[in-house]
Amino acid sequence: MNSSDFFNSSAWHRVRFATLRRYGAACMACGRGKKEGAILQVDHIRPRSKFPELALAMDNLQVLCKECNMGKSNVFMDDFTGMTEERKKQDEALKQWAQFRMRAYERLREWIRMKWHLAKNSGNEVEAKAWLYGYIRTAGESRMREILGAEYSPGGK
Ligand SMILES: [Zn+2]
Repeated sequence: MNSSDFFNSSAWHRVRFATLRRYGAACMACGRGKKEGAILQVDHIRPRSKFPELALAMDNLQVLCKECNMGKSNVFMDDFTGMTEERKKQDEALKQWAQFRMRAYERLREWIRMKWHLAKNSGNEVEAKAWLYGYIRTAGESRMREILGAEYSPGGK
């Protein structure tokens, strides 16, 4: 993606705005804000040209004034966010944990659906319902409704 496409993309606008919200509208290097005449920009700590995979990563963004940003250019990679490497690692670990949980939940959903279909197709409706009720007791009714969607009808025929 070329530069002008990137800076005009809605994905960029979203992370750019989120960065301003996160850190406030003042240069994180020299402290100047709009009142001091600073033109604020959202900077890629690790430059987009060298790290395109970090182009939309929130942790790779900071607020700089135009002058500081031009001084930094793609030569320096100074990080003014105050985020320590330790903190970044923790954030990354949390993100991975959340993804892992989501994948585990997806697999659980698939498993439940499969079990439900097997139970239903076994022809033994009593057993299928017993299984479903047993699962509702552990997983909760709202979760089962979410997982089975329209097929959810424990009380039905
Ligand atoms: Zn500045």
